[in-house]
Amino acid sequence: MSTFKITFAGGAQMPTGSNFLVEFGGKKILIDCGLVQGERYALPTNSEPFSYDTKSIDALFVTHGHLDHVGRIPRLVRDGFRSPIYSTEPTREIAELILLDSMGVLGKEAAQTGTPSLYEERDVLEALHLWGTTLQYENPFIFKTNDGDATIILHDAGHILGSAMIEIIYKGKHLAFTGDLGNTPSPIMKDTTLLHGIDYLVMESVYGDRNHKDKDRRIEIFKEAVTSTIAKGGTIIIPAFSIERTQEMLLAFNELIEGKQIPEVPVYLDSPLGINITKVYKKYESWFNENIEKIIKSGDDIFAFKGLVQTPSPEESKTINGNNLPKVIIAGSGMSNGGRIVHHEAKYLPDPNSTIIIVGYQAVNTLGRLIVDEAKEVLIHGVPVKVNARVVNIHGFSAHKDSDNLVKFVESTSDTLKKVFVVLGEPKSSYYLGQRLHETYQVPVVVPEKGDVVELD
Ligand SMILES: [Zn+2]
Repeated sequence: MSTFKITFAGGAQMPTGSNFLVEFGGKKILIDCGLVQGERYALPTNSEPFSYDTKSIDALFVTHGHLDHVGRIPRLVRDGFRSPIYSTEPTREIAELILLDSMGVLGKEAAQTGTPSLYEERDVLEALHLWGTTLQYENPFIFKTNDGDATIILHDAGHILGSAMIEIIYKGKHLAFTGDLGNTPSPIMKDTTLLHGIDYLVMESVYGDRNHKDKDRRIEIFKEAVTSTIAKGGTIIIPAFSIERTQEMLLAFNELIEGKQIPEVPVYLDSPLGINITKVYKKYESWFNENIEKIIKSGDDIFAFKGLVQTPSPEESKTINGNNLPKVIIAGSGMSNGGRIVHHEAKYLPDPNSTIIIVGYQAVNTLGRLIVDEAKEVLIHGVPVKVNARVVNIHGFSAHKDSDNLVKFVESTSDTLKKVFVVLGEPKSSYYLGQRLHETYQVPVVVPEKGDVVELD
């Protein structure tokens, strides 16, 4: 008789589409229900039926608010799921903004491809209705099964605001899902909590085969790229994820401009979602690390500085390119696979005086990936666009642990580990990390495929 049965329903051998089914004590819970993303905001596979009976699921636990972890929840609801959804409070707030925002993009993609939209607004609202109770880090939540109680504990993953690892304790066995793990020390978030006493670990591997070589020098590289572009009279465009990266960029400009380390130029935050997510961040300042708390206590608004212009409406957005003076534009999407950034790329990529600064993960087949892979010409809205602008790729801003730090993260619980499942990465990353973990800790490692089922005792 097994303790846990895990079905790797999504996020196996791919970095997106996080979705794991765990069965224990006659109950079924899901960990995450994310969108499969890539060259498109939502790949067609998201419309396929779920591999399990959605009505039979007893609860859904969410690690964090990124779309590849929450984006298919409304579809789950549309397909009959009606059980409680649990997460931290900020995760729920971020998810609400992200899911309502996704409606627009999904609707547009559906219209372009002539397919029905993945879900409707009523599905999002129903999902939020099911998302009532929120959980605190380290505060045990008792989950009743048909055969005794299980305990579920959320630990701070340090990845984005509200991000959590989820530990399930049942019949004396500890199973943990890392979700995404933060690039500790982060400029804003607290450090990732170290795990102890885990028997089975399901862990992410987005950067399983690479290190963030420039982490210590990221601000220096950033400063040089900005300063030299302003000196040439060019524009700096920064594709940024709305959650965490946008706030980190604001924080960086806050420090550099207020510290007079770069010239004062207009910095446009051209992202309605980024603007709203920043408001959620400001609301949860007590969740930030000590350094940031000190700066806030000294009276500085860390996400505001002279020159910052927020352009939520399309009309305001259009004013950005009214003149050719040096400026900075921060916009989504982070991988240039949609959003306002694409319009700015069409205008500024051909300009040799301008610079595009890449500060996040770029999935295979996205416009962002083509740009970092030094394409000389890219297609934007079907039109060829020359890439004459300088491309500066700064890995150090990543919100994910790199390969060395993923290996190091496992150390605190390596004495009790019986098996590690490496997920949420491209296959190359997952296998490479798996090999490193096996060599370092002599622990059995599995890189599951989508649909694999394992029983653990
Ligand atoms: Zn994430």
